[in-house]
Amino acid sequence: MDNFTDLLKIYYSRLFPLDEYYKWLSYGDGNSFQLREFSFTLDGDVYVRNQHFQDKDALSRELLKMVPIKIDIGAVFNVVPNRSIKSMKLEAMQRELVFDIDLTDYDEVRTCCSGADICNKCWKYMVVACKILDVGLREDFGFENILWVFSGRRGVHCWVCDLAARCLDSAQRSAIGDYFQLITGGAYTKKRVNLYNKIHPSVKRALEMINPIFVQLCVEEQNMLGTEEAMDNFLELLPDEESKKDVKQLFSKYTTSLQRWDAFTSYFNHQIQNSKKWRQNRNFLDEVMIQYCYPRLDINVTKGLNHLLKSPFCVHPKTGKISIPFNSKAADKFDPTTVPTINKVIEEIDDYDKKDKDDMNDTTNLKRIKDYKKTSLNKSLHVFREFLHKLETTKNVDNITF
Ligand SMILES: [Zn+2]
Repeated sequence: MDNFTDLLKIYYSRLFPLDEYYKWLSYGDGNSFQLREFSFTLDGDVYVRNQHFQDKDALSRELLKMVPIKIDIGAVFNVVPNRSIKSMKLEAMQRELVFDIDLTDYDEVRTCCSGADICNKCWKYMVVACKILDVGLREDFGFENILWVFSGRRGVHCWVCDLAARCLDSAQRSAIGDYFQLITGGAYTKKRVNLYNKIHPSVKRALEMINPIFVQLCVEEQNMLGTEEAMDNFLELLPDEESKKDVKQLFSKYTTSLQRWDAFTSYFNHQIQNSKKWRQNRNFLDEVMIQYCYPRLDINVTKGLNHLLKSPFCVHPKTGKISIPFNSKAADKFDPTTVPTINKVIEEIDDYDKKDKDDMNDTTNLKRIKDYKKTSLNKSLHVFREFLHKLETTKNVDNITF
C-alpha cells in the first residue's frame, strides 16, 4: 500500500463528496455548519477537537492541510468557541439522533468471527438491527430523514436528521434509546431479556422480523446449540434447575444445533400446555430470539447530545474501507467484505482516465465527469444524494428557528 497520507490527499481532493457533505450538514442554513464541532484524528493518534469551519471551502482547505485519518462529527453549538468568548457558556444546541451498532457487542452470540472481523454471516445481525430500528424510528416516532452508514470496519451508524430529532434534549434522547434497548445487563448477566406478559407492539413487530430468519441465522449459521459451551450458555437462560437438567438430557440425544433447537421447541410447546411453571414463562422463546438477534446498541452514543461520531466517507486507517451510506431497505444486499477501499477507488480513477484517454484522445471529456463517478463509490453517493433530496423536500416542513 502506498503511503496512507498520500492516498488520503488524493481522496480528499478528488473523491470526498464535499458539495453533498456541506449540503447535508448546513441543512439549508449556514449557521448549522459554522457552529458545528468537528474533530480530526491526525496520523500518530493526535486528536484535534473543536474544529469549526466557515464554509465548505474552509473545510476543504483544512482537510488537505491536516489530512486527518479520521473525522468525527459533534454537535452544533450556540457559539463558535474561541478565546474571546471564554466566559460565555458553550452549549450544544442541535445534534442528529445517532445510533451506533458494533458487531463486537454480539461476540457472546456470534461464532463465525470475533473482535474486529466481519463476514457475510455476521453482517446479517446488522441487517436485522437496521430493519428493526429503521421501521421503529419511522413508524413509532415519525422520523423520515434517516441515513445509514457502514462504519468502515464491523458495524453501522444511523443518523436521524429530521429537525425534530436534531433538537431533542438529553432526556428525550435517553428515552428513545431506552425504548430500543431490550437487551440489558452486562456480560455476566445470563438472561438479558425479560418481556412483560403483554408484549409491546414494537417488540411484536421486531419478533415478526426476527422469526423468519432466526433458525437460519442463529441456530444453523451461528451454531447456537452446536457446542458444549453454546449449550451451557443456552441452559443458563432456563427458568430453574429442573428444566436445565431436562433440557440438558434432551440435547444429549442429538448432535446438531438444528436438531437440538427443534427438540427444544417441541419440549417447550408441550410444557406450555401442561406445566404451570412454564405457562408463567410463556414468552421464553420470544425472549431467546430477542437475546440472540435483537439490535445491541451502544446506548451512550444515542443518549449524549455531545457525543462525537465518526463521519460518513471517512477512510478506515486499518482496513482502508470507506465509510459509505447504504440503503436500509437493501441492507441484506450490502456486502461488507467488498466495500470500496481507498486503494481501489484511486486505482479506478487512474484506470478510467487512462482508458478514456486511449479511447477518445480527448482530454476535455475527462474534465466533464466527476471523479467519484469513475469509481465504485458512485453507488453509495447515489444513496447519499437520495437522502439529501428527501431532506430538502421535507425542509419546508421544518421551521428552522435556530
Ligand atoms: Zn462473521
